[in-house]
This record gives sequence, structure tokens and C-alpha cells, in this order.
Amino acid sequence: MEFSQYNVNTLMEITSRPDLVFVRGQGSWLEDNAGKRYLDFIQGWAVNCLGHGAPEMLRALNEQGAKLINPSPAYFNEPSLNLAQRLTQASVFDRVFFANSGAEANEGAIKLARKWGKVNRNGAYKIITMDHSFHGRTLATMSASGKPGWGTMFAPQVDGFPKANLNDLDSVHKLIDAQTVAIMLEPVQGEGGVIPATAEFMQGLRKLADEHGLLLIVDEVQTGMGRCGTMFAYQQFGITPDIMTLGKGIGGGVPLAALLARQDVSVFSHGEQGGTYNGNPLMTAVGVAVFDVLNAPGFMETVQARGRQLSEGLLKLSAKWGMHGERGAGLLRALVMDRDDGPAIVDAARKLEPQGMLLNAPRANLLRFMPALNVTEQEVDLMLDTLDGIIARMRG
Ligand SMILES: *Cc1c(COP(=O)(O)O)cnc(C)c1O
Repeated sequence: MEFSQYNVNTLMEITSRPDLVFVRGQGSWLEDNAGKRYLDFIQGWAVNCLGHGAPEMLRALNEQGAKLINPSPAYFNEPSLNLAQRLTQASVFDRVFFANSGAEANEGAIKLARKWGKVNRNGAYKIITMDHSFHGRTLATMSASGKPGWGTMFAPQVDGFPKANLNDLDSVHKLIDAQTVAIMLEPVQGEGGVIPATAEFMQGLRKLADEHGLLLIVDEVQTGMGRCGTMFAYQQFGITPDIMTLGKGIGGGVPLAALLARQDVSVFSHGEQGGTYNGNPLMTAVGVAVFDVLNAPGFMETVQARGRQLSEGLLKLSAKWGMHGERGAGLLRALVMDRDDGPAIVDAARKLEPQGMLLNAPRANLLRFMPALNVTEQEVDLMLDTLDGIIARMRG
């Protein structure tokens, strides 16, 4: 169908979108309304960890859909129990609350920390978060985020989120007072520009939290579920967090997220947390299917190998074009360029004929790569070659 035949004005305009409509996807490839194909290195924003149309997910959707879609969150269902068991076995956490989006999981983490503060810390409620962090788009998670302008955009927002600087332990220490209950951060800042926390910083935060009786909350909505080369990114820092949130990859593309906590931190009373769709069997059955692929022997090794391949390829590009290197973990990586042509490269890549390519520029001088975790060696090489060609043409 022609783009002009779609009535795009029936959707609320919340962002600028290119003049195309995606109609199908397979693996690392998307196809638009005109039949043009795109190599997808965005994958739903680091969401489709198994690529488009993964057979394991389709099987789970079909089988569970035919069996039971939603008995109500007031009752137990098998897939949610199966997924909770897998997640707790694979991590240091004991209890899971399922949610429908990363923001909702983080909102739950904030509520849980405040409840814990009420019970154990005389009503302490402040949660120290990081400058340039991203935790979601609800009122509380926007307030928790360190994006410029977000503290006042829908004022009055939610109080109690003082901001420290990533990898600056002193800036965290200075903010701690009697009302501080937790520290919350992304192990690798995703939207902020793929900026990893250092092991020294993470271990320092754990120590600070222990000394002051604070909870350490890791927002692994983007970094979790194998994205960084281990099931959870915190595992690479040698620390034990108190609360973790998951989203994006946990559903492989369907709306699923999770809030995990250790036993002694799981302090919600009846009625304080819930939601109509939370832990519904259709989505958690997909979560089980996704988890089992990620957890299969050898899968993380291939993620790590593809991550190294991508990293080395980006470093070569950087050296060739006089850029400032690359950074990230596993298959969450960024190329740091020497100038602000990220948006122009993103545009040129999408417009390439006969096949386009989808990239993302979270900052003007930065390109972010978040392919499917099962992206092939050939697809990574194709992306690197195509990108090199685009840069060569632009710099002519
Ligand atoms: C994407 C993201 C969120 C928000 O998740 P939604 O599903 O969009 O609500 C929260 N935290 C981090 C680190 C993210 O990358």
C-alpha cells in the first residue's frame, strides 16, 4: 500500500516518524509497506532479543493463547510461576512482581523502596538517581530520570530524587541524608548514551549503601536479559543489588517487565501493588520461551563473540575516520564520533536503496547499536560495511 493511503493523523503525534509503515519482520530484517527491506540494528529499542518472528515466541503465543489468556491477577497461573522460578534461580533475588513496561516496573521499585523505608528506616523516602539516567515516562520515573528538563515538564512532579553523577562516588556520598532510602541506577546508561558504570563505582555504591542502610536498585530494563553478554549486567560487577527491574528483552517484543527483590526487601502488604494485566499467562509464557533460549548452553558465548566483533569493527571505523572510539557492553554499544552527524547518518542509512538499515543516534555525535542477540556474524559485518560506505559518501 502507498504511504499516502494511510491516515496517519488518527494517531496522536508524539514524535516525528519517517514516511513508511512496517508490515513484517524476520530475524534481523524488517519490511515496509513498499516491500523495501531494512537491516534492523534497533530491534524495537533493544527489545527483540531474538529478532523478529522468533519461532519459540510464536509457539508460546499460539499454545498459551489457545490454553488460557487471562484468569485475573487475583489467581495464580502456571506461566508466571514458571518464569518467576527461572528468574529467581538465575539471579540473587527471591521474589518477582511482573509488570507490563519498564516504567511500571521502576514505579514498583520506587514504591517498594519507599515502603521498605517506612517499615525499616523511619520513613526515609529519597532515592538518589544519576544525572542523564533514564527510568521511564510515568510521573515518578520521569522525576527519577536525569534527562534535562524532565524535572519540570509536567510540574509538580514527584519529590525525592536527588541527582548524583555516574562514576563519581563522592557526588553520591554528599547527597545522603537521614531521609535517603536507596540509590538507583542503570549499570550501563542506555538512553543517556551507552555509558557504563565502572566496577569500582558499583562496588563503592554497594559499600555506601551498606554503611548507611540504603537499598541498591539496578534498573536493568535495557541491560538485563543477556544484552550485555551475561544474563544480568550486575553480575559483571561482583555486587549483590537489593532490587532489580527488567523490561525490554524479557518479553522479546511483547509487553512484559519485572520487579525483583530479595526476600527481606519484599515488604508490600496486600493491596499496595497490583494491576489488571500483571503476570498474565500469555505474556509470561512468551517470557519463559525467551528465557529458555537465552539460558541455553552457549547462547551467552555467542552474544559475547558478536559483541567483540561489533566492538572491533567499530574501533576500526573509528580509527579510519578519526573518531573517538566506541564503548558499551555485549551487544549494547555506541560509536563515539568526532562530529554531530549522527542524525544525518541515521537518515542516510534508512534511505539507502535497495535495502535500508535502521540505526539510532541517542546523541548527535553518537550512534547506538542494539541488534538482536542472535544476530549473525554476516549481519554484523554487513552493518559495519554499510556504515563505512555511508560515512565515506558523507565525508566524500
Ligand atoms: C526503556 C527503559 C525504561 C522504560 O521502559 P518502558 O518499557 O519504555 O516503560 C526504563 N529504564 C531503562 C533503563 C530503559 O532503557
